[in-house]
Amino acid sequence: MPALRHLRAEGRRMGATPYLSIVIPVYNEEENVRRLQEQVTAAVDPLGIEYEVIYVDDGSRDRSFEILRELASGNPRMRLIRFRRNFGQTPAMAAGFDAARGEVIVPLDADLQNDPVDIPRLLAKLEEGYDVVSGWRQKRQDKGLTRRLPSMIANALIARSTGVRIHDYGCTLKAYRASVLKDVRLYGEMHRFIPAWAALEGARVTEMPVTHHPRTAGKSKYGLSRTFRVILDLMVVRFLGGYGTKPIHLFGGMGFTLCGAGILTGLITLYQKFFEGIKAHRNPLLMLAVFLFLLGVQAIMLGLLAELGIRTYHESQGKPIYRIAEMVNFEKAPAPVDS
Ligand code: UDP
Ligand code: MG
Repeated sequence: MPALRHLRAEGRRMGATPYLSIVIPVYNEEENVRRLQEQVTAAVDPLGIEYEVIYVDDGSRDRSFEILRELASGNPRMRLIRFRRNFGQTPAMAAGFDAARGEVIVPLDADLQNDPVDIPRLLAKLEEGYDVVSGWRQKRQDKGLTRRLPSMIANALIARSTGVRIHDYGCTLKAYRASVLKDVRLYGEMHRFIPAWAALEGARVTEMPVTHHPRTAGKSKYGLSRTFRVILDLMVVRFLGGYGTKPIHLFGGMGFTLCGAGILTGLITLYQKFFEGIKAHRNPLLMLAVFLFLLGVQAIMLGLLAELGIRTYHESQGKPIYRIAEMVNFEKAPAPVDS
């Protein structure tokens, strides 16, 4: 693969600093980890690049971590993190991202459903000049009704509302340039939204079909309920992406609309009183008018509170409201420049 040739040279030059960090969340996968590590080695060793494999044990209650520890004792490329309890796949991935030293980060499921064989292709695609290459499980091997259908709906919703048109947000196997992940803070089931986040921050995102196998050992950790959590998370992402720095525009807009509807309803009530002889206190529209107007005022108040919140959020974390790619003839950058 020509795109990978210069990586090889670079890998040798850099010596110990890995070019690639593979991040694997593990929760009760004792039957899988051994073979997984073999597969990763078989897929990545031939590339001749420096790499590390970071396993994050998310509070497994089986022998996953013992097996990993045993494997890692003979393999310095393997680095392990063990959580005190089960925190969830997203925190596990976040811990791996934080620990990763590579320029490129590739997360992977531990259950052998993703195939490490795809990693070289993802890397090559990334080297064509992308910041995110998203895996697309074109032939997904999961149950149709409880897994594939909800996921299709969620993917369509996410793609529509974020404007980042990739097919498979849920696929863990993706390749990221580390600089893109540096600014992403993950909450909830958010790991699937990283491509959308990244695109909002100005990253170049593309996708590529990847292999997907049925789960042969261990159990899936999720069911139908995840779909609802994903949709709620989507609302958060959409909100932060669209109105994250100007919440009053959303709440204020709603507030004005509601107040306007309240005033209109009030006017109708008055009209009916004076011209149609309907007594206002007998007219249900009066209640509606008051109700709408108060809701509108509430929405505006909520917007003002959100404005306060958003200032705390951006300033306490030193989060700029923009992202700079490059600066010329400046001594000091006002915000960290993405490399
Ligand atoms: N996982 C985790 N913590 C959890 C749930 C899952 O680290 O609380 C890991 C799990 O071990 C696997 C990956 O996340 O490596 C994906 O989980 P799973 O295969 O159950 O999800 P599915 O493929 O069914 O969507
Ligand atoms: Mg799985």
